[in-house]
Amino acid sequence: MVPILDLSAQTALLRPEIERAFAEILTSGRFILGSQGELLEQEVAQVCQSRYGIAVASGTDALHLILRACGLKPGDEVITSSFSFIATAEAISYCGATPVFADIDPRTFNLAPQSVAQRITKRTRAILPVHLFGQAADMDPLLELARDHHLFVIEDCAQAIGTLYRGQAVGSLGLGGCLSFYPTKNLGAFGDGGMVVTSSLGLNHRLKQLRTHGSKTRYLHEEVGYTSRLDELQAAVLRIKLPHLARWNAARAQVAQFYNQSFADLPVLTPYCAPFSNHTYHQYTLRTAHRDQVVAELKALGIGTMVYYPVPIHLQKAYRALGYQPGDLPHTERVAQEVFSLPIFPEMTHEQQEQVAQAVRKVLWQQPVDPAFSL
Ligand SMILES: *Cc1c(COP(=O)(O)O)cnc(C)c1O
Repeated sequence: MVPILDLSAQTALLRPEIERAFAEILTSGRFILGSQGELLEQEVAQVCQSRYGIAVASGTDALHLILRACGLKPGDEVITSSFSFIATAEAISYCGATPVFADIDPRTFNLAPQSVAQRITKRTRAILPVHLFGQAADMDPLLELARDHHLFVIEDCAQAIGTLYRGQAVGSLGLGGCLSFYPTKNLGAFGDGGMVVTSSLGLNHRLKQLRTHGSKTRYLHEEVGYTSRLDELQAAVLRIKLPHLARWNAARAQVAQFYNQSFADLPVLTPYCAPFSNHTYHQYTLRTAHRDQVVAELKALGIGTMVYYPVPIHLQKAYRALGYQPGDLPHTERVAQEVFSLPIFPEMTHEQQEQVAQAVRKVLWQQPVDPAFSL
């Protein structure tokens, strides 16, 4: 049995340090907007090569609040990927704006710049690329489109903390980047959490105001805001974990390399590594024409798998009102039928990696080789 994710070894390793930090916070009695949160903001901003960090209650809130701070309103359009977690689109909807879905590059699973270009209208205000599974979207052409059409670029970095695009940290390429500290992310808290990183002083001030009831000075409210903060306990956990992140991401890459070698001769597509990005392997995601059968057989062999994401956002019931039809985003739709993800986490043992590789080899050797199956 190998689960898709097991955090127990990581938690056990850091537990004494975390318990000490919790004890200090309990004694201090300061639970919200204290020194742990402020230090975490500085430390994460540094990792993301950005001037400021604004910690909030979730990755979804990070996206929502930055779009709100950009002045998004009903009638505005934001071009994004349909092959993402639904939060990416929800944040746009919360502002009353309309998500417009462009197709992906089927190799990287990230926004295809030509498809974005085709969807720019007079109402487009922003482009929201997602750095899915830990690999950067191709930012240069997107940034160029944004410059030409005066659009904001907001990066969804929820799955990509530590990823570099042409050597530069994701989150620092557009106006701002949004991180999630959901427990399963590469840097995970013990509950919900998120952060916006940006180098804009104005945006930093605005977001710090928006997350706490539109208030700069207590009980004086400049605007109608929100209650969306990261508490001190979560910030302390994340500060203890952050120094390990680079090593953990490297360990994920080693697991991926082992898988790549183990699957090189199988009728399956291993993750494509774009020349412009490293990969921090939030997920290790394969493609096969026989996905559902492969997943079922792996399950029978005790191997945890997950399909991220089986239904693209434009075909979700929640977004039926937007009027998309099957066939509108061919690459997105095909990939959603063919992908599945294998267990990957930094603490995976050699035995676990071997077990997964052997099971995958066993299952995939039985699959017919489909000569038509390629990109
Ligand atoms: C996890 C995730 C989010 C949302 O983050 P939460 O902290 O769960 O609100 C947004 N976008 C993507 C791509 C994600 O994976």
